[in-house]
Amino acid sequence: MIMVTAKTHLMAALLIGTLIAAVADVPNVLLFVGLVLVASLAPDLDNPESTLGGMTKPVSNFLRLTLGHRGFLHTIYMALSIPVLLYFLGYIYPAVAVGIGYLSHLMMDSITIFGIKPFFPIQFDVRGSLRTGGPFELVIFTILGIGFLIVLNIFYLKLSFGDVSGLNLITDRLSSLLAYLTSFIPASITDLF
Ligand SMILES: [Zn+2]
Repeated sequence: MIMVTAKTHLMAALLIGTLIAAVADVPNVLLFVGLVLVASLAPDLDNPESTLGGMTKPVSNFLRLTLGHRGFLHTIYMALSIPVLLYFLGYIYPAVAVGIGYLSHLMMDSITIFGIKPFFPIQFDVRGSLRTGGPFELVIFTILGIGFLIVLNIFYLKLSFGDVSGLNLITDRLSSLLAYLTSFIPASITDLF
C-alpha cells in the first residue's frame, strides 16, 4: 500500500472543513464541508487503485498513463488552479472549500514514505515516514477523528458533560485555545466568505 486510504483523507478533510466552516462562519456548512470532502479525494483520480479512481476506472487509467500517479494531480499548481478559477467565476466559498480539501490530500500524502512531488515535473520530493494501510495510519486516523469530535462539540453541538467537571474543563480550555488561535486568522480571510 503506497497511498493514504480514502477514509483517512476523508477524516482529515472532515476535521479541517468543519473547523474552517465554523471559524469563517460560512453560509452553508453542509455544502462547504461536502465540497471539502470531494476535493480531498480528487487528486487520486490518477490512481485506478484508489477508492475514487476505482469508481472511475476509464478516467483514472487514462490519467495514470498520461500524468502518472502522484504526478501532476498531486502538485501545488493543481491545488491552486481550480480554486483560483472558481474564485474568478465568483464562487468564493466553494473556491476556498475545494482549495482546503485538495491541500489536505497533498498534506496527508506528503507524510507518507512515497511522498509527493509538489512542483512536478521538478523532482523535489516531500515525504515522511508514514507506512500507509498499517497501524500508524490507524493511529493518525484516530487522532484526526478525536480532533473532529472536539471541533464538532466546541463549535456545533456545544454539549456540556454533566457533572464530569474534568472533561468540561478540558473542552473549555480547548475552546479558548481555539478561539485564541483563530484570532490570528486575518480578517481578510474570513471576509472572503
Ligand atoms: Zn494521493
